[in-house]
Amino acid sequence: MRTHYRIAWRLSVLLALFCPAAWAQGADEPTTRQMNLIGWQEFSEFVPDRIRTVLLPVGTLEPHGVLPNGSDNLAPEAMAADLADRLDALVAPTLNYGITGSLQAYPGAFAISEDAYRPFINDILAGLAANKFLNIIVLNGHGGPQTAVLTSEADRVSREHRVRILVVNWWSLASEETFEVFGENGGHAGNNETAYVQAIVPEHVHPERYSEDMATAYPPRSTWHALHFPSSIVL
Ligand SMILES: [Zn+2]
Repeated sequence: MRTHYRIAWRLSVLLALFCPAAWAQGADEPTTRQMNLIGWQEFSEFVPDRIRTVLLPVGTLEPHGVLPNGSDNLAPEAMAADLADRLDALVAPTLNYGITGSLQAYPGAFAISEDAYRPFINDILAGLAANKFLNIIVLNGHGGPQTAVLTSEADRVSREHRVRILVVNWWSLASEETFEVFGENGGHAGNNETAYVQAIVPEHVHPERYSEDMATAYPPRSTWHALHFPSSIVL
């Protein structure tokens, strides 16, 4: 089975456990699963009576070896599109800007401060709750400090608005498959992320730009710290 299908399968098992009531429901389907495309009248016909789950892809813009800068957005967005039917969920617009850490000096990268990001993601989650979704699944494509902020804001919104929120870091969830397929763990722009992005937007992956020195095996991260990080691939 191809890796990205396995990752989608693994995600869908986890998500089915999270919202079993939403699994494989109902005969009548909305004309679209995308919140960007659905109109308010149709939205009100489906949410919350028929559709109770929403998928929110989040990522950032930062360099990724020879992959697109938006890989952390593209991967969870593709997973959400893959999963929406099976979960009977809508897909919220992707939050494409995030807390980029040590790679923010690279061309085309964006870094939102934690002070700006924290209340913004809080308001997005609270807005999904206000729109009467009962299950909010955050598909996160970007690691580092963003993960901790997402987790704590998810906890806060869940308590304050009495909704269920699941935050999934897909590359961690897929680590078993990564070991199985590649014999080693992945990393930022590593085997796992490269394979997934190649599967979804092969025309935007540029192996001809790759050179061995881009993926240097540095000493363990705990032994040193540099700003800015010397490579756009972090293994
Ligand atoms: Zn990435």
